[in-house]
Amino acid sequence: MGQSTETTDWVSRYADEVIEESERRTPGKPVVVASGLSPSGPIHLGNLREVMTPHLVADEIRRRGYEVRHLISWDDYDRYRKVPNGVPGIDESWAEHIGRPLTSVPAPKGSPHPNWAEHFKSAMIDALAELGVEFDGISQTEQYTSGVYREQILHAMRHRADIDAILDQYRTKKAPTGKKQGQKPVDEAELEAAEGSGAAAEDDGTGSAGYFPYKPYCGGCNKDLTTVTAYDDDITELTYTCTECGFSETVRLSEFNRGKLVWKVDWPMRWAYEGVVFEPSGVDHSSPGSSFQVGGQIVGSIFGGKQPIGPMYAFVGISGMAKMSSSRGGVPTPGDALKIMEPQLLRWLYARRRPNQSFKIAFDQEIQRLYDEWDKLNAKVADSTALPADIAAHSRAVRTAAGELPKTPRPMPYRTLASVADITAGHEDQALRILSDLDPTNPLASLDEVRPRYDKAEAWINTQVPAEQRTVVRHEPDVELLKSLDDQARESLRLLMDGLDSNWSLDGLTHLVYGVPKVQAGFPPDATPKELPPEIKSAQRSFFALLYHLLVGRDTGPRLPTLLLAVGADRVRKLLGA
Ligand SMILES: [Zn+2]
Repeated sequence: MGQSTETTDWVSRYADEVIEESERRTPGKPVVVASGLSPSGPIHLGNLREVMTPHLVADEIRRRGYEVRHLISWDDYDRYRKVPNGVPGIDESWAEHIGRPLTSVPAPKGSPHPNWAEHFKSAMIDALAELGVEFDGISQTEQYTSGVYREQILHAMRHRADIDAILDQYRTKKAPTGKKQGQKPVDEAELEAAEGSGAAAEDDGTGSAGYFPYKPYCGGCNKDLTTVTAYDDDITELTYTCTECGFSETVRLSEFNRGKLVWKVDWPMRWAYEGVVFEPSGVDHSSPGSSFQVGGQIVGSIFGGKQPIGPMYAFVGISGMAKMSSSRGGVPTPGDALKIMEPQLLRWLYARRRPNQSFKIAFDQEIQRLYDEWDKLNAKVADSTALPADIAAHSRAVRTAAGELPKTPRPMPYRTLASVADITAGHEDQALRILSDLDPTNPLASLDEVRPRYDKAEAWINTQVPAEQRTVVRHEPDVELLKSLDDQARESLRLLMDGLDSNWSLDGLTHLVYGVPKVQAGFPPDATPKELPPEIKSAQRSFFALLYHLLVGRDTGPRLPTLLLAVGADRVRKLLGA
């Protein structure tokens, strides 16, 4: 069960700490880690860190043979705060539901799901399944409305003065009151995403009749715009009035199930109730008065529990999410990422960075470089030349304690697949032919061998690459341009075409396209830059531009070796004027 120090990465270190702490708190019991997600709208890709951080730690603990529960608390009994922008199937009439529980708001039109919360949970659950994340989902609506927290609610009401005193230490400090998923907003869409994820500036329960940590949803309008006006501890009678519809009633908390503890009391209550040992939260909650810090005081002095080990995770950004393709108003979700990348790659991004390091998830050209890096790591792991920390991150990306994630049988380079998908524009027979040419001794029997990676690359091309950057291979040679070429240019094309057949691979063609200008200048094709005059660089640039113009009618495009492979030798010869 011990880990050698050489393979220790951040995940292993947290696993050590969490196992030790769990054994101390509840010897012999399953280890409990937790995440919280608010399905108040599309769940932002940035919030995936809330799940991946405990997932990776839980998975390491499982690999060591311990039993682990990874709870995902669906905060679906939170109030509906605002109508998010860019969600299809809704209109301004959804505003009338503001203040109701997320599970009491209708789902967007056309949704197969029974309510707002279920609609957005569902997409996240699908993404987590593809990512291999094993979890126990807990609906807070189900918990509260079935009276699961009855004792905890009555206890909190009995000790409301103590809770009030704790909260009061922070009230003057103008502390952030947002929930833990708040992401640092970078633009308007991000801001909406953060708010949509539950960064509620919620009131903490203070009212004119005193402090009450419990808020009922109104019996008239089902909104939380209620004020508790009286409470009797002995008989648990609670009276509230609604500022929205004027409804008022007196209920007995010993049997009433339509309300919830305020967030700053709710969160620590659940730490104690579930025995959570590890639960991370966003960096914006490291400040004094944050719900994590206040919760730490409340869980101990009110609920007799302990604060979990709670690392603060840094912001995860997105690079180049094309606005045009955003199906959800500029807010990418984990599902959007999984349309363009395999789950292994996404897992790897989280596994290789410590939670306090921020990073970006690439929706732009950078995804191709990232995939190159990933393929290199796979090769290094396969021939045992990878570094221990890289091996650890790789292992966490490709498998869980339950086994290997489904993978692409023949993982051809993503940029090659993307170029082929770009050039063939949905013609699968053509794509199969081109990909088979890459290795004629071992041709592809079917595109299934390169799936799902091919499908992800194709989706990336179709949804993230703007029309003006798409590659359209010429159907006919550019006769005018060919006619205008001088002898040297003609000679360069001849050298290239002569070398095509004997260099028909990515490496071979790379060597060939860089080698032609060297040979023309009287150097061997494998001469290194140090052996060459600087003019070679500009000769190479002009040669490449000429090839792009003749092949795709622009001065740039996909990498030339990839483009040549994708176009095919016969068509290359036709377009270069053979
Ligand atoms: Zn009401």
